[in-house]
Amino acid sequence: MITFSPSRFVPLFQAGVTEMRAPSSTHRWLLPNGRRLELQPGKPLLHRLCTVCNRNFVQDSATGEWFAAIPRMFDFELLHPVNEKWLCDPCPGKRFEPNT
Ligand SMILES: [Zn+2]
Repeated sequence: MITFSPSRFVPLFQAGVTEMRAPSSTHRWLLPNGRRLELQPGKPLLHRLCTVCNRNFVQDSATGEWFAAIPRMFDFELLHPVNEKWLCDPCPGKRFEPNT
């Protein structure tokens, strides 16, 4: 059974914060418009992978929020510790290795 872990999605944008952060346009996306996923019915996600730095981002289509993530077999592991940094960073121009 495919499960999705909504509890991992911690809202970044609290009331009063109006500016939505999105991954830098300097990344080179594998697919120009990203890949649409629906891991849980009615909760569509947009997945983007940069072919240069190998960073993954997912957008919660319901809220428009972006998250740094690592793809797993059936869902995504969200990278809260680097979320802010990844969303602020331009593409670092080299490959990101999740286990180093
Ligand atoms: Zn990149």
